[in-house]
Amino acid sequence: MSGKLSSFDENHPRGSVPVTPDQIESAVAASMPQTVEDLKRLAAIPSVAFPGHPEEPVLAAAAVTEDLLRSAGLPRVQQVAVEGSYPAVYAEAPAPPGAPTVLLYAHYDVQPAGDPAAWRTPPFEPTLIDGRLYGRGTADDKSGVMSHVAALRAFRGRFPVGIKVIVEGQEEYAGERLEAFVERNPELLRADAIVVADTGNPRVGDPAVTTSLRGMAAFTVEVRTLREPVHSGSAGGAAPDALAALMRMLTALHDDNGDIRVPGLPRGSFFGQGPSEEEFRKTAGVLDGVSLVGSGSLADRLWSSYAITVTGLDVPTVAQAINAVQPVARARVTVRVPPAGDPKTTVNAVVDFLRQVAPWGVQVGFGDFTVGSGFQADSGGAARAALNRAMERAFGRPPRDVGAGGSIPLVNTLLKQFPAAEILLFGAEDEDAGCHAPNERVDLEELRKVATAEALFLLELGSPGAA
Ligand SMILES: [Zn+2]
Repeated sequence: MSGKLSSFDENHPRGSVPVTPDQIESAVAASMPQTVEDLKRLAAIPSVAFPGHPEEPVLAAAAVTEDLLRSAGLPRVQQVAVEGSYPAVYAEAPAPPGAPTVLLYAHYDVQPAGDPAAWRTPPFEPTLIDGRLYGRGTADDKSGVMSHVAALRAFRGRFPVGIKVIVEGQEEYAGERLEAFVERNPELLRADAIVVADTGNPRVGDPAVTTSLRGMAAFTVEVRTLREPVHSGSAGGAAPDALAALMRMLTALHDDNGDIRVPGLPRGSFFGQGPSEEEFRKTAGVLDGVSLVGSGSLADRLWSSYAITVTGLDVPTVAQAINAVQPVARARVTVRVPPAGDPKTTVNAVVDFLRQVAPWGVQVGFGDFTVGSGFQADSGGAARAALNRAMERAFGRPPRDVGAGGSIPLVNTLLKQFPAAEILLFGAEDEDAGCHAPNERVDLEELRKVATAEALFLLELGSPGAA
């Protein structure tokens, strides 16, 4: 799609406002072609808000998001500055008398595409194959943007509850800047219920609400041993190799089974059912004959326990290898923290452990720390009950609780700022959507059901018993 969307009221004169669940369902279904066109338009923009990537496409995605929210009939739509980051897009419609207000969250930035050779289709040319739209960001999280837009459009500008929308522009990189924004602008975002459309169902058509998220901590570790590289023939065998020291430290983090050896990071248990080993192997693409690592059920390992991953190394590449003992080596280490854990305490435990296991008196330094807390939903009130009814109608069965291994640090900030608000995490990013991976895709039937559930939820919350 190109050009500006016409204003909403021109397309939908008043008098045809859908008020029944049937009408809501039909309205979302009827608008799916437009929803898909809009998703394509948004996903064609490489809005990668990482350093070293151009700013212009990120700002272009903000402008399109603004345009889409305006087309959803919200009377107030604007970009808001977020200090040190890209603008967020904010929109609102006032609550009808006595009705609650719902805040809808998504983000318009995306992960970098990575190696283009790993993609079946060009990452920023959204391509429809077998009912799924392929492209970077089609699921994470432009499907979230479109789920909100499609749900809101169904009401033709007359919303059953107060609506606030915040679409973030830099979630995938240093998303903590929006957290500071939330803390400084509580009135702008205050709501009775908050929908975070940045997760998904375990399988397409298998409805779930994400009730637990792991937090995250990350840091860079640097090992130094020599003033400069020395010849591995003349000095190797006696000169302390920084890379060898770093590898010993990193391998010490886990035992032979893949369980964490750092003291103070116990295994947790998840109350609820996770994937089977077969499902997980398929989703994660584990190669034949290769074992999974760690102990406990998969739900325990993925959602309620710590996980440590080395995500980057600064070492000479194979192509640039020379016969030298390395004087310095660096690694980026990421730690996933269960909802009950504290990311700062966790990162201190891992750093202390690495210092203790460092061999040969090598110099060890740590830097570039980031931390974000996890999330544990409480058992649920009126909003969760409304969502259960809405999802049951949209998917044909009620949702179950699942955890997510990933982190959305903003959720904890929202919880702290608005302790009385119910936070509901669901969306069209099913486990097989390939978020952050090549060939990311969203199932369009899943997107329709999620948008339908979201619209029915708004209706149900505004007039309990409607759905
Ligand atoms: Zn996301």
